[in-house]
Amino acid sequence: MNKFIMANDSDIMSGDVTDVYFEKTKKYLELMHSNPLVTMEVTTQSSVYDYINFTGLNDAISLLESRNIRVDAIPEGTVIRPRDVKGIPVPFMRIQGRYLDFAELETPLLGFLCQASGISSYSSLIKKSLGSIPFISFGIRRMHPAISAMIDRSSYIGGAAGVSGVFSSRVLGIKPSGTMPHALSLILGDHEAWKVQYENSDFRVFLIDTYMDEKFAAIRAAEEFPDIDYIRLDTPSSRRGNFPNLIREIRWELDIRNHKNVKIMVSGGIKLEDIPELIDAGVESFGIGTSISSAKPVDFGMDIVNIDGNDITKRGKFSGIKNVFRCRECHEVRVQISRDAPKCSCGNTMENIMVNYMDKGKITVDEDLNTVRQRSLEEIKNIM
Ligand SMILES: [Zn+2]
Repeated sequence: MNKFIMANDSDIMSGDVTDVYFEKTKKYLELMHSNPLVTMEVTTQSSVYDYINFTGLNDAISLLESRNIRVDAIPEGTVIRPRDVKGIPVPFMRIQGRYLDFAELETPLLGFLCQASGISSYSSLIKKSLGSIPFISFGIRRMHPAISAMIDRSSYIGGAAGVSGVFSSRVLGIKPSGTMPHALSLILGDHEAWKVQYENSDFRVFLIDTYMDEKFAAIRAAEEFPDIDYIRLDTPSSRRGNFPNLIREIRWELDIRNHKNVKIMVSGGIKLEDIPELIDAGVESFGIGTSISSAKPVDFGMDIVNIDGNDITKRGKFSGIKNVFRCRECHEVRVQISRDAPKCSCGNTMENIMVNYMDKGKITVDEDLNTVRQRSLEEIKNIM
């Protein structure tokens, strides 16, 4: 038994983490000696995101490994609208094989894709809004610890400059980023806490709102340690009033005292919609937690689109085995059955962006995190 109320790797791999109706379906199909060759596609009909940063394929592939199936998908870190130029839902992933070879994995497969893609899509919107201003993902404390590395990975793919999780450095090789907690100032007092941080950290960020008014603490921090990188405000909501104006005031007071080099970082309940006015007020770095880690999942569904060579699907879905083409120049997307590349409306040739990831249960493409992140950072520029 697990110590915590959670599934472990083998519970998930064995298909135990599934919905009971799949168990029943498998039993009935076995009774009826029916196990057709099917093609299933993963699409979303009503995403909360105008653009989806497709993430979670790493775990989905690990889940499906060793099942006798073929898997094609859009690469992780691709940022794409959920429907093509004509409104046809984009298949993000395509699975082909005998239905009974993978039926019960639909539940964990969708779970991997929906949550990771939600986090990276939200993170991408923040990255788009911030441009070159960095943000660190701080949100693992608001979620189950078992998924901390998944949250950090998805935030990082979505454009976070850093992530706070120590465990993530072990699993993902991302060096964790962090500042200092209020606990340090409470225990040592501000001055001693700042001093020990100054002398021992290569990322010199002082938290300045533990005891004092932010303005006077910022001035004191900058005068005592003039070459620090950032002061960080994590001002509690009960003290916020007009947060952007508080930042303007601090920026002003630091500037007239020749501390233009001391930048302002903010954290604490920051959401996507808060960002423009905080940048306008002078914020130059963000710590963003809960809004990223609790991002709404993408509501991917998985449906049969072909059975034993016949195109068929349920009401509300589009049958047939589809391909996804995208224009290199204008990024227009076209979903079609034909494998022949169509001409884009801008005149350029489109390319098929679905890639084979698994054949007969053998993984054919294995991408590292940095490759995925680089693709994502390039693709985020496509968000309009
Ligand atoms: Zn085009």
